[in-house]
Amino acid sequence: MDQGRLIVVSNRIPTEAAPSGGLVVALHDALKERGGVWIGNSGKRVATQEEAQGLTRIAQEPYERYCFDLSEEEHQGFYLGYANATLWPLFHHRTDLLAVDPDEARIYREVNDRVAGLIAEVVRPGDVLWVHDYHFLPLAEALRRRGVTNRIGFFLHIPFPNPSDMPALSERKLMPGWLSSFDLIGLQTRRDVSNALDFLRDNGAELLLRGKMKFDSRTFEIASFPIGIDVDAFVEAAETHADSGEHLRLSPGERLVLGVDRLDYSKGLPQRFAAFGEYLSHRPDPQIRATLLQIAPPSREDVEAYRDIRQELETITGRVNGEMAELDWTPIRYIRRNIEREILAGLYRRADACLVTPLADGMNLVAKEFVAAQDGADPGVLILSHFAGAAEQLDAALMVNPYDPGETARAIDQALSMPLHERQSRHLSLMQAIRETDIAWWTRTYLAALQAKTEPSND
Ligand code: UDP
Repeated sequence: MDQGRLIVVSNRIPTEAAPSGGLVVALHDALKERGGVWIGNSGKRVATQEEAQGLTRIAQEPYERYCFDLSEEEHQGFYLGYANATLWPLFHHRTDLLAVDPDEARIYREVNDRVAGLIAEVVRPGDVLWVHDYHFLPLAEALRRRGVTNRIGFFLHIPFPNPSDMPALSERKLMPGWLSSFDLIGLQTRRDVSNALDFLRDNGAELLLRGKMKFDSRTFEIASFPIGIDVDAFVEAAETHADSGEHLRLSPGERLVLGVDRLDYSKGLPQRFAAFGEYLSHRPDPQIRATLLQIAPPSREDVEAYRDIRQELETITGRVNGEMAELDWTPIRYIRRNIEREILAGLYRRADACLVTPLADGMNLVAKEFVAAQDGADPGVLILSHFAGAAEQLDAALMVNPYDPGETARAIDQALSMPLHERQSRHLSLMQAIRETDIAWWTRTYLAALQAKTEPSND
């Protein structure tokens, strides 16, 4: 049977001919293979909404790519406001940072409505739509209103909120209608699925068999599809760039603990720095020199909470370094800019341990990349927060409570003194886990599930 096209919708769209980055490459490959369309935000801002109308074609080969602009007001209300100052904190269990602004909520829905109108002009019968992330929660409902009956899937890359946090969202009553307009809701973990089922059941949806739900005569499905990385590509990059660590000019015997995170309050960075300070104060032998190299490119700096976290980190770094540094040793090296993935792969390989200690995280790909980059003969140790989505799969890591600096400090000590055979056996199980659900598995499995049922699902 002739397969319809795949239409991917995501906030940002790759503009280069051969994009890089795990998710982007995976979607690029899926589109290349079956043909299709990628629709996303151009990243360009125009002064008024009138100027933002319409889709611009940015590429035709090997599949079509279209982008739309946002006006200044839309960028503020949709992207910085509702998506990143309301939904992001709520979904990451930080209701204390959540902004309630009815204008931003309205603009978020209006942008989704406008984008749905643009997509509806492109969709043909038989096409399958795959919508990505929290920017587009109401998109399927807006498409259904326009008469689109195609299969529409959604994947949420961040955690599904804890149902007990939901009352903090003024639009919570709209959520069941938004979600049930999709045919398949993909989440990162089983914990997210259970949160979503609980929330929907408490808000008028009926639980059918095996993750299927019914709301207002529409049936839809919720399941977990833990996202992965391109393991082989990462192994190769780490081998090719194994000398990245030389740039650091570490002294002989100096241990390297690595952290790689967007500068975001969900990543637990202040707690991590405090834990590293505590480790240094209590390390078994004062001769041990360990350096924490934290790479933290800034993001969303127009949102207030992101400026606050930056200041907080700089204060802690100054304090720990002020107390502990020697003439020839700086315990915390903090790089606030983006490092290329290839170089990063080599740094992962050089590191003795990697601290992945978010307070909440959809999956956390850094954890998987670190595992892939290790030399199996002499691997480093992954220290992983219970609150990273990756924790469901990577239980051979040293698991920590990121809120407890003492526990994380003890894990750093354990990692840096772990015998070779234990490091090897942990690494072997971690490798197996990341290979089982790599990025190709993720696209294949999700798309198979989305297309499993071909009859129209809305009555
Ligand atoms: N990354 C990068 N350069 C940096 C920092 C991060 O290329 O300087 C990449 C990293 O390799 C990973 C991604 O950014 O692929 C971060 O993904 P993750 O799931 O860990 O966190 P997110 O930023 O999506 O919350």
